[in-house]
Amino acid sequence: MFESLSERLESAFKQLKGQGRITEINVASTLKEIRRALVDADVHYKIAKEFTDRVKEKALGAKVLQAVSPGQLMVKLVQDELTALMGGQAASLSLEQKPSVILVVGLQGSGKTTFSGKLAYFIRQKLHKSPLLVAADIYRPAAIEQLKVIGQQIQVPVFSEEGLPAVEIARKAVTEAKNHGYQVVIIDTAGRLAIDEAMMQEVADIKAAVNPEEILFVADAMTGQDAVNTAKAFHDRLAFTGVVLTKMDGDTRGGAALSIKYTIQKPIKFVSAGEKPDTLDIFYPDRMAQRILGMGDIVSLVEKAQEQYDAEMAKRLEKKIRKNQFDLNDFKEQLAQIRKMGNLKDLLAMIPGMGKQLKNLDLNDDAFKGIEAIINSMTPEERANPDIIDGSRRRRIAQGSGRDIQEVNQFLKQFEQMRQMMKMMNKMGSINPLHIRKN
Ligand code: GDP
Repeated sequence: MFESLSERLESAFKQLKGQGRITEINVASTLKEIRRALVDADVHYKIAKEFTDRVKEKALGAKVLQAVSPGQLMVKLVQDELTALMGGQAASLSLEQKPSVILVVGLQGSGKTTFSGKLAYFIRQKLHKSPLLVAADIYRPAAIEQLKVIGQQIQVPVFSEEGLPAVEIARKAVTEAKNHGYQVVIIDTAGRLAIDEAMMQEVADIKAAVNPEEILFVADAMTGQDAVNTAKAFHDRLAFTGVVLTKMDGDTRGGAALSIKYTIQKPIKFVSAGEKPDTLDIFYPDRMAQRILGMGDIVSLVEKAQEQYDAEMAKRLEKKIRKNQFDLNDFKEQLAQIRKMGNLKDLLAMIPGMGKQLKNLDLNDDAFKGIEAIINSMTPEERANPDIIDGSRRRRIAQGSGRDIQEVNQFLKQFEQMRQMMKMMNKMGSINPLHIRKN
C-alpha cells in the first residue's frame, strides 16, 4: 500500500541530508518532489500544492531544535500535514438510535456487500451489539445470495424479501429489528457500474423512508481520483456521513485516501483490506500517515497483537519499544504471533521501516521460515544484543540455519534499520505506544 509514495517522499527528505538548517532555497527542491510524489499518487494538483505550501510555511517558521535535523523536521511536518489532510482524528460511528440504521451505498463492485458483512462482524465482535443485515439489492439475485452466504459465515441474520421494492424491504427490516431486538440495521443497497439517476433516486427514497443514522459511502481505493469524483456525486445527492475505502490490500497509490476528506469534508471511517470478515479497520489518519512515511504503524500492530495474546505481553513490548530495547527475542516472539494471525505482508508492513523492504519480497511462509531459522540459530545472548553478532558469528548462524550469509547480513541490517526508526519515532514523540486506544 502506498509504496511508491513512501519511496518518493523518502527520497525527497534525503535531499535535505547534510543541511544544517532549513532555508527557502534548500527546501525548495524537497517541496517540489513532495508535490510531485503526491500528484503521482493521484492527489489533485491543487490539494498537493496547498499541502506543500503549508509545509513550507511551517518549515520556514519552525525553530530547528538542536536535537533534530532539517530532514527529521520535514518528516515530522509532512507527517502532521498528512494526518490533517486525512481528517486529523479518527471518526467514530454514531449508533444512538434504537435501532440504528446504517445505509451502505456506492457503485457496483466497490465492495459494498463484502463491507456490509465485515461491518456486521465488527459491530458484533468489537461493539458488542447485535446486527441485522438487509439485502436491498433487488436487481441482482447474486448479490442477495452473496450477502446470505456472508451472513451464514459470520452468523448474522440476513433480512430479504422477494418481490418487494427496495424501499419496502428497508422499512420492513427496520420493523423486524424493532420486534426482535436487533440494535443495528445494515442495509446493503444496489449499486450500478456508474452514477445513475435511478440508483440515486432509489437510495434517496430509502434514506427518506428509514432515516438512517449513518450513510456510508463505499469506494474502491484502487480507483483514486475516480473514487473522489464519485464520492462527490453521491454526497451532493445523499449527504452521506462517512467514507469506507476498500481494497486497501491492493496496489493503491493513495489518492483516494489522501484527498477524499479534503474534497468532501466527510471523514473516512473504515478501511478494508482483504476479503475475510475480520479485515476491517477503523481509519486512523495519524497511523496512516506514519505508514505512508515508512514508519510503520506500531500502534495498530500492537492492537492486533493484543487481540491475539494477553495484555501483559503487549505492554512489555510497548515498554521495550519506548525504551529502545526492542531486540531479536522480541522480534522472534512477534513473528511467531504474526504467523498465527495471517495476512502476513500487511501486518509486517506495520513494523517501522519494514514497509519498503517488503515490496520485493515474495512473502510466502518460506520467507518467514528463513528469518525464523536465522533467529533460531542465534544464542539468546545474540538475540538480546544483536550488536555482538560479528563476522564469525554470522557465518555460524548462516550454517546453523542453512541460509546464505548474505541473507543473515541482510536480515540483521533490516533489523537495525527498524530499531533506528523506532528510536527516531520515540525521539520525535510521534508515537505513544503506551496509550492504546480501545474502541
Ligand atoms: P458490491 O458490488 O459493491 O457489493 O461489491 P462486492 O462486495 O461484491 O465486492 C466486489 C469484489 O471485490 C468482490 O470480488 C470482493 O471479494 C472484492 N473485495 C471487496 N472488498 C475487498 C477488499 O477489501 N480487498 C480485496 N482484495 N477485495 C475486496
